[in-house]
Amino acid sequence: MTMPLTGRSPVTGMPSFSWYLSPTHKLLVKAASLSDAVTVGGPNGPVEICKLRQRGFEASVLFDGQGYAGKELPPVGTWMALQRSAGADRLLLPGVFIPWNKDDPASLDRVVGEQQRLASDLDATMVLAIDVRWLSKRVERLVDLLADAGCPTALVLAERADPLAVGGAVSNLRWLASRVHGLTLLRSDHGALGAVAFGAVHASIGLTTSTRHFTTATMKARRLPGSSARLFVRLLLDWFRASEIAGWTAAGSSILCQLPCCEGASLARFLDEDLDATWHTMHALADFADLVINADPGDRPVEFLNECRTAAARYGLASFNGPENPKAQLTGWAFS
Ligand SMILES: [Zn+2]
Repeated sequence: MTMPLTGRSPVTGMPSFSWYLSPTHKLLVKAASLSDAVTVGGPNGPVEICKLRQRGFEASVLFDGQGYAGKELPPVGTWMALQRSAGADRLLLPGVFIPWNKDDPASLDRVVGEQQRLASDLDATMVLAIDVRWLSKRVERLVDLLADAGCPTALVLAERADPLAVGGAVSNLRWLASRVHGLTLLRSDHGALGAVAFGAVHASIGLTTSTRHFTTATMKARRLPGSSARLFVRLLLDWFRASEIAGWTAAGSSILCQLPCCEGASLARFLDEDLDATWHTMHALADFADLVINADPGDRPVEFLNECRTAAARYGLASFNGPENPKAQLTGWAFS
């Protein structure tokens, strides 16, 4: 693990979760009260967090400079110093993207080897943005490389849509998380909590389609139809548009949220474009995260899988009139 920067162990080196946000996100300070830490994306993170620190912001922060996405960062030593000056919980390398190459699987070994040496020299966490096929098709190699890395790893999964919907990705992530010491899932969705349930240390959860996974310019992100807000529905453990949710209500089933964000109000109200659903989504995800993270370590897998199975069973219920079928990731977890 990285050496503590302030004489303590990193908060994100133990089972924990953070929100993955831009450094100027309007809810950043408030959001930190619901999570163990905040992950700040982009090269300006340290500068912006330093400004907040001067105003008394004390939350644990990780900095994802997004070097793997081609973002221009200062030389690596300077990037480390910037993170340190902004009170980083631990230091993250700029990161590299590893494209899929079925004809040259050793390309994975070479890049991981380089990053591992750099991370060990700088006492940092290596950041690997990988085409999800390395996870779905070459997991043995990935496990071998990361289990022996000698430094913590933060993985970013790259795919045009949900990487954990790809066949084999969920079960392989389960295995990877159980074998690799100190794994972080960076820039992910709630599936990162599954990784934590099975042994990863940190889930960094994004709230928009562009921060719930990484999509390269050539991957052609799928544009989802509709324009109403997308929000996380705790009972179904998935994201839905307010317009879809309103449809369930019209069919005779109202979706009420009993968490402090909504105090029993219907989620269909987010059809009103003037209402921001982000605070609700954060509460819903934090409720799920707390359940997993606060469980005894030996109970985490069962707690997580029980939640997934219970949620999956709510789909297609005649008495509910909600969505017909769970999406691939939820099915993946429920039957893993
Ligand atoms: Zn709510």
